[in-house]
Amino acid sequence: MAISISCSPCSSVNTMLSLSSSSQCLPSKLFFKPCKSFMLNSRPGIVVNCASSDMGSSSSSDYESFRQAHLPSFGLSSNGDARKPSYKWQRVLLKVSGEALAGDNAQNIDPKVTMAIAREVASVTRLGVEVAIVVGGGNIFRGSTWAGCSGLDRSSADYIGMMATVMNAIFLQATMESIGIPTRVQTAFRMSEVAEPYIRRRAIRHLEKGRVVIFAAGTGNPFFTTDTAAALRCAEINAEVVLKATNVNGVYDKDPRQNSDARLLDTLSYQDVITKELSVMDLTAITLCQENNIPVVVFNLNEEGNISRAIQGERVGTIIGGQRRAATAELQQ
Ligand code: UDP
Repeated sequence: MAISISCSPCSSVNTMLSLSSSSQCLPSKLFFKPCKSFMLNSRPGIVVNCASSDMGSSSSSDYESFRQAHLPSFGLSSNGDARKPSYKWQRVLLKVSGEALAGDNAQNIDPKVTMAIAREVASVTRLGVEVAIVVGGGNIFRGSTWAGCSGLDRSSADYIGMMATVMNAIFLQATMESIGIPTRVQTAFRMSEVAEPYIRRRAIRHLEKGRVVIFAAGTGNPFFTTDTAAALRCAEINAEVVLKATNVNGVYDKDPRQNSDARLLDTLSYQDVITKELSVMDLTAITLCQENNIPVVVFNLNEEGNISRAIQGERVGTIIGGQRRAATAELQQ
């Protein structure tokens, strides 16, 4: 039986990332200082093709090998345009931790950070890259920290943590939409008054239509993390890379805060991360990435332009399980 996969026009593609806030301060405990306004880039009319990514070469299932060799990502395909720039990745999953959202603000969220993210997301979606975002919640509540307090069991604590990610997601959505980026929030468990439930095909359709999709509430299960949710959603929607936005420049050979000669590592294998117990991602998340050949780029969110540089495969941060591409955007014949 022959199976055909149709492809949407590349111009409708966009990427998942996180966001920022408006210039209003909110009254309660979470809150925000004014942030400056900015202008959106004009749409350059660039079309992105479906270049396959040169992902890492660790173990993969037969199906995974077949899929990579023969099938475009679901909902993605190249088109016949003779002059289209080829970016390193066409559909990405941006993981933004709660800590990154907080910036150096004493409050839970720094609106300057969320706005900076929104601006970068806007610039890459206008290049035709599809962006999905998984947000963390550690700036508000971390289940493992609170478990055991006043009779709070770990599962209940983790559900509170997952709800914290929804708060961040809604804030991020508001910021994104304030600068004109169509955005949908999908939650891993139902909160239908505030967001859509997670439906894989629907998420992909949003991406194809140029919307940013923010995945909230992690995996929907206690005892997991939003890093694992990022790896899981990335695999599910056939995104090509997890871009892990952090407050540090990447992965170092030793702790840079204690060793002035610490060296930023350019590339790492999944096995390096696992055996050396590097605290890049938890073991479940990195293993999921390894099993599905999903490269992870760890980079500093606070440096302007880093998100778009990471998406274009430029030398930014540390790449795990993948390779760099020298050129930013190549014209295909
Ligand atoms: N969490 C969970 N299951 C998930 C994802 C998250 O239970 O699949 C809970 C967990 O309590 C965690 C909190 O949500 O501490 C916030 O997520 P995370 O710590 O991953 O956020 P980040 O460190 O990225 O800010």
